[in-house]
Amino acid sequence: MKILLSLFLLFVVSCSQKQAIEIAISGKTMGTTYNIKVVQGVDEQLDVAALQAEIDDALIQVNALMSTYDPDSELSQLNRTEAGQAFPISEKTEFVLQEAIRLHKVSEGTLDITVGPLVNLWGFGPDKRPEVIPTQSQLDEIRDYVGIDKFRMKDGVVTKLHSKLYIDLSTIAKGYGVDVVADIIEQNQINNYLVEIGGEMRVAGNKANGADWRIAIEKPIIGERAVQKIISIGDNAIATSGDYRNYYEQDGIRYSHLIEPNTGKPIAHNLVSVTVVHPSSMTADGLATALNVMGAERAKALAVKNNLAVFMIVKVGDEFVEYASPAFTQDITQH
Ligand code: ADP
Ligand code: MG
Repeated sequence: MKILLSLFLLFVVSCSQKQAIEIAISGKTMGTTYNIKVVQGVDEQLDVAALQAEIDDALIQVNALMSTYDPDSELSQLNRTEAGQAFPISEKTEFVLQEAIRLHKVSEGTLDITVGPLVNLWGFGPDKRPEVIPTQSQLDEIRDYVGIDKFRMKDGVVTKLHSKLYIDLSTIAKGYGVDVVADIIEQNQINNYLVEIGGEMRVAGNKANGADWRIAIEKPIIGERAVQKIISIGDNAIATSGDYRNYYEQDGIRYSHLIEPNTGKPIAHNLVSVTVVHPSSMTADGLATALNVMGAERAKALAVKNNLAVFMIVKVGDEFVEYASPAFTQDITQH
């Protein structure tokens, strides 16, 4: 009888789920696009226009605070302050800066939001690509004002210790944007959704047909889009960092857009793609980049030590070799 009842309930649930629909909402933000799916349940009537307006307002606000492309943003104003000048920041920017500082510690100094000038020097920033590889003295000069210890943050006030210090939150800002949108959706009592901004993604609940949200991890190859693996991640965010579309080669050496803060030089190793699953999209975003910079061996060790769900693709000779951390193997459904 119990079995019959639960079968009956399953039947009722699956019938009603069938009438639920997925509503797609998309738009532009942070120099890229956002794509959202929300599930409207049976007997529900979502006010999609109002929801999108709320989301757009929030994203515009994030940009107005943290964009380095907007010269009037709070962060751009902070970047223009002189050494020793106290600059009060909003709670939101403080929250993101705090996470950046925490991830710097977690990643043993690898995730560094002040490396922008080095990125530009090597030619991956908004500046033009250099004709020649920077000299050691050029590197040393810039490293005087690169480092998370070159500013202070206390009680919502940031003080730069070197006037040329330049903070760039773009490694975690897209992820933060995803979290902001997901929070708005949840505040609207919507429990089944997918949010994606420029490749950073967070999902909760199920699709309208009751199935898991299935997410494809791309194959790290240039010139074509192919799937390496399909997974379900529960109520979590997922971020992938891979330099396979974002590097240049000179004299046979492959220079990535990611900088190893210890040396001031672009990473050059065989780790081609790092995927992190974490409840927070901001954290997943930052960790994926940090682990990528660390390289396969250090990244594996950190994933094990911190029980992080991490999937990596390493290039060994001509082969791509997969690595899944214990937490990834345990918690993630692989299809
Ligand atoms: P990916 O998703 O491939 O990691 P992102 O665009 O998220 O790429 O982040 C790469 C950007 O982060 C670079 O363009 C650069 O500005 C910045 N960056 C490079 N090295 C570091 C680093 N060690 N820590 C933090 N940010 C970095
Ligand atoms: Mg990233």
